[in-house]
Amino acid sequence: MSEVASLTLFNSLTRSLERFEPVHPGEARVYTCGPTVYNYPHIGNMRAYVFADVLSRTLSFKGYDVTHVINITDVGHLTDDADAGEDKMEKMAAAKSQSIWDIAKHYTEAYWADIAALNIRQPAKWSIATDYVPQMLEFAETIAPKHCYELASGLYFDVSTVADYGRLARAVTEEGEGRIDAVEGKRNAADFAIWRKTPAGETRQMEWDSPWGRGAPGWHLECSVMSGDLLGFPFDIHTGGIDHREIHHPNEIAQNQAFCCTNGLDAVENSGARFWMHNNFLVERSGKMSKSSGEFLRLQLLIDKGYHPLAYRMMCLQAHYRSELEFSWEGLGAALTRLKRMLMASEKLADVAAGDPGHPKLAPLLASFEAAISEDLNTPVALTVVEEALAMKKVDLGAKRAVIERMDRVLGLDLFSKTRADLRLRPSAVSLSEGDIETVLERRKAARAEKDFAASDALRDELAAQGVEVMDGDPLGWEWKIGA
Ligand code: AMP
Ligand code: ZN
Repeated sequence: MSEVASLTLFNSLTRSLERFEPVHPGEARVYTCGPTVYNYPHIGNMRAYVFADVLSRTLSFKGYDVTHVINITDVGHLTDDADAGEDKMEKMAAAKSQSIWDIAKHYTEAYWADIAALNIRQPAKWSIATDYVPQMLEFAETIAPKHCYELASGLYFDVSTVADYGRLARAVTEEGEGRIDAVEGKRNAADFAIWRKTPAGETRQMEWDSPWGRGAPGWHLECSVMSGDLLGFPFDIHTGGIDHREIHHPNEIAQNQAFCCTNGLDAVENSGARFWMHNNFLVERSGKMSKSSGEFLRLQLLIDKGYHPLAYRMMCLQAHYRSELEFSWEGLGAALTRLKRMLMASEKLADVAAGDPGHPKLAPLLASFEAAISEDLNTPVALTVVEEALAMKKVDLGAKRAVIERMDRVLGLDLFSKTRADLRLRPSAVSLSEGDIETVLERRKAARAEKDFAASDALRDELAAQGVEVMDGDPLGWEWKIGA
């Protein structure tokens, strides 16, 4: 394991930077709250997984054996994170007149396609909530006698039965939690359903028998059960978006405390995970990103407009994960250009075999990179170190390649397997294929070689009429682009 820089991470539980010490020596066990598969993820959601991916890659870089679990929520998540609203999956299935299973399959596959396009590593396991219902029932039965009470609508967790409820959120507000009158009989505003009974006279597409009647598990219960089951309490790091710091994760922690307290550990150890880490939001200028209002910013929309998905990954890496990041098309364009410059510099090393990274000029850069990434995943600084290494002249190329490869294993920009042609802007709305464009450009080249400038201009105009702008002498070598 590396001796250079110890890994420091920001723990939302203590709101401070803490040195990472694994629960199990040499290992790092990480759980990431995954999507509710009732709709396509927007690119803000995907920022949460790019962050978790950089965390997991950094842990690998630091020499830990990483076990990463991401869940898929296919039941139980209401339209409101507290106890109001309808089940997101049931609602979408009804709107589309499809079975929940089909809805879940379609959107899970769409999410996995985005994961692959963003070069996010596959976790050790994708845990699907509906596969864990027996374990959820067992967990609920364990904590119910001391921590829960039954109402007509389900089994509720009494948050006053655990020490220091809500310490992760810091401020437990009426607004942030459910209202006490939202469900008749609730003892505290923050109490939440861990099992929701199917109302009399209704049938849900997804329901199971339980000691509290037929129904479905609560969303918070799912994550406690899957994380504990697959990683063992306490595990190292639990991640999610910053919104989860307010309701979902405090509720997971309350359940974990209720479950673990039986073996007499103290409150912090009973939180389930030692570190709770949260990425800040991707926002639009007009405010919060949404799947319903304005332009639905899916990764596919970026691709349709011609942007390579890794340009979005680059955009995420350019900001620290704890900062808000504002999305703009100009910003995405700038990220694409930066990635292209890095790829062009990497191309010079394409045929070079990786050598010894311990070169005297390059080793300090690798150390700076490690220091940046070890300081709460400072990717903006780490990126500038990669650029510095790429720009370095008169160094052993094998060493240079080895160092860049190591850095890229953390950042995941695929510098040695993508080419500049892969990054070309290619909106899907344009009917000309890349091959068609290249054919016209070849003819134009031949015309120019014969000094037939009239023919060359006519071919350029022919492309322009179809939305393709020829970019002669462009220093970034784009050669052509589509659109204004
Ligand atoms: P959901 O599918 O709504 O449960 O969200 C999936 C993940 O995306 C969760 O970790 C959320 O906290 C996170 N998230 C939601 N909106 C954003 C956003 N605009 N920017 C970054 N992360 C987000
Ligand atoms: Zn979760």
